[in-house]
Amino acid sequence: MNSPQHILEHVFGYTHFRDPQEKVINTLMAGNDALVLMPTGGGKSLCYQIPALARSGCGVVISPLIALMQDQVEALQEAGLRAAFLNSSVPYDEAHSIEEQLLHGELDLLYLAPERLLQPRTLSLLQRIELSLFAIDEAHCVSQWGHDFRADYLQLNCLHEQFPRVPRIALTATADKRTRAEIAQRLGLEAARHFVSSFDRPNIQYRIEPKDNQRRQLLQFLNNGQKDNAGVIYCLSRAKVESTAEWLSQQGYPALPYHAGLPAEIRAEHQRRFLREEGMIVVATIAFGMGIDKPDVRFVIHLDLPKSIEAYYQETGRAGRDGEPSTALLLYGLEDVVKLGQMVEASEGSEEHKRQERGRLNAMLGLCEITSCRRQSLLRYFAEELAEPCGNCDTCLEPPATWDGSEAAVKLLSCVYRTGQRFGASHVIDVLRGSENEKVRKFAHDQLSTHGIGKDLSGTEWRAVVRQLIVRGYLEVEGEFQGLRLTEICRPLLRGEETLLLRKLPPKAERTQTRNSS
Ligand code: ADP
Ligand code: ZN
Repeated sequence: MNSPQHILEHVFGYTHFRDPQEKVINTLMAGNDALVLMPTGGGKSLCYQIPALARSGCGVVISPLIALMQDQVEALQEAGLRAAFLNSSVPYDEAHSIEEQLLHGELDLLYLAPERLLQPRTLSLLQRIELSLFAIDEAHCVSQWGHDFRADYLQLNCLHEQFPRVPRIALTATADKRTRAEIAQRLGLEAARHFVSSFDRPNIQYRIEPKDNQRRQLLQFLNNGQKDNAGVIYCLSRAKVESTAEWLSQQGYPALPYHAGLPAEIRAEHQRRFLREEGMIVVATIAFGMGIDKPDVRFVIHLDLPKSIEAYYQETGRAGRDGEPSTALLLYGLEDVVKLGQMVEASEGSEEHKRQERGRLNAMLGLCEITSCRRQSLLRYFAEELAEPCGNCDTCLEPPATWDGSEAAVKLLSCVYRTGQRFGASHVIDVLRGSENEKVRKFAHDQLSTHGIGKDLSGTEWRAVVRQLIVRGYLEVEGEFQGLRLTEICRPLLRGEETLLLRKLPPKAERTQTRNSS
């Protein structure tokens, strides 16, 4: 039987364990249970794959994500391991042959969807063979309070009763204290050792700026100490990926496009050059990054707002794996919020799903608009408390100025109300600024008392007010046209009983200086 270290090197081709992989593996090797909380990309898979190989018998991995199951199994097979999966997508004949292999001890790892595992037929099959461990991936699915509750997961506590001698490991990337306790209790893992990794990536400096002139902002960032550094730039659309890569090349930066619409050879070539050559920049849609493990990525830039904090965290997390100082820069605008909001509305999901997606998008916008430490806010989202402001994000390094936006907010809210609470931000702003354009006239909005009362602020400034009122819950965005609507909490503000401090947009010249001095 091979040692975990041997398997790490010879099967997976890595030299060192990441913290706390080795301790988790040793716990399972000793036959004990473990509960692992680690951020996405932290390296959870090895925590069960290695002990499954090092112990005798087959390891059973329970995962709710069928697509991921297939990817993982294919990757393991390529590495020469005897792995298979069973779920509703597997044809009968193939399932039968996998069962045969299982009975003959010919599998190292078997991936199962929870409903498949719980079938009496599967359970009795597993009773007849030697098992090395059970791994319960996405363990937060047992929590009835979470986003991803799955009733099947509740029944997984039967594993404890039916297979008392097989060690179990539950893994998740999202669990606050309460959910963790719930996982332990519902899965009968009270005696399990807990491994809780911090989500903090102290060497990543978080910077978030409103879009002003994004190419200029991008170039300023790159010119300011990022020459010859490797980085990833994320865009929402393929067209923008291509145009940005081309433009950067013209500016003298070695930039390669990467998105799912490119031929596979080109994608492989660009990925290979990014990994092998120094100082390459990849401009990509989110298709890029899965399985990329380049330690010296010095910056990750988002030219469009990610759709959730989870996505932002995962994508920025590709910077600075080597622990050296790195930067995550996000440029965002109200257009992004509208576009992403429309994508949510147009998606196939249920109403409940859309509601959750809207909530996630709003939390992401909230992170952009806060005036306090970004890292504290980011970590709090993952249920982790950072006692002090971090000192390594833009709001810590250059505290944003605020202004009394109460009057502006009242003007905006009144205008939203007067226009009937169904128009998007750009129209409402047109009315405030006294535009006489066709749409304004068509709806007779030039006749409203709020027409032209907001000429004192620019369009950009109004958009910043709108974003902040959305984030703080005064305005809701709804429907295909992303219409604005007032919420209950507006009342005290409208009655003049509340003061609202808003983040000040830095003047353009000042913004340039700030970056040069950092
Ligand atoms: P998670 O399941 O926590 O999201 P994965 O298990 O998919 O993370 O691992 C993320 C990436 O890190 C993978 O590319 C994996 O190969 C790599 N990885 C994991 N452990 C190590 C290690 N000890 N050394 C180097 N790379 C590792
Ligand atoms: Zn900070």
